[in-house]
Amino acid sequence: MERSLETTVAQAVDAWLRWLPRWHPSTHRGRTRVCRRCLGSPVLAAAGIASDVPHAVQHGLATRMKTIVDHAVADYTERNLPLLGAELRDADARAALTPYRPGEGLDPEFDGLQLDPDPDPEQPYLFTLAELGSDRPAAAAPPPLSEEAKQALRTEIGLADACANETGRRVCEILIEHRVRIHDGIARYVEPQITALLDDLALELDSPRSPW
Ligand SMILES: [Zn+2]
Repeated sequence: MERSLETTVAQAVDAWLRWLPRWHPSTHRGRTRVCRRCLGSPVLAAAGIASDVPHAVQHGLATRMKTIVDHAVADYTERNLPLLGAELRDADARAALTPYRPGEGLDPEFDGLQLDPDPDPEQPYLFTLAELGSDRPAAAAPPPLSEEAKQALRTEIGLADACANETGRRVCEILIEHRVRIHDGIARYVEPQITALLDDLALELDSPRSPW
């Protein structure tokens, strides 16, 4: 039996809360670019963690919610959108011919982040992960679609987008109901670590506390 969206979101929040104690400031990977998934994310706003929360913590939740929306859209597509479903299966089959995909199978906190550090002209790399991933020979392109088929496909893509938007909106509504336990988890596992980190830094620098 298909689980309701309420149950799916609640279970994803449960899983994120189980992961939360494993978060540690030292596991934070330095980034110089903003994360497109988290910046201005309505999911993070609904969860009440859009600001003052470490990015890896935000990203883990945003990614879990995105997975829920993706699955809902895939399910809707499979049941209602035959042309788009066939296109996606073809695309999957072609992608399967590319053996190395460095952006896949990462832990939630790294999913969607840039693969390589920003280039430094002083220290050129022999190769980057992104290049390794994209240098594979591309699979044969699919045969071109007729105008009629393109129009039908565009209609189905529009319906899939509408499904994604509606599911995302409902996920946000449901997340609002989980705000208290999300906040409790951060207060319990994240904030003490940040306080300890700042205290350590203050000790390390051996500097007097700023009067302001
Ligand atoms: Zn992010």
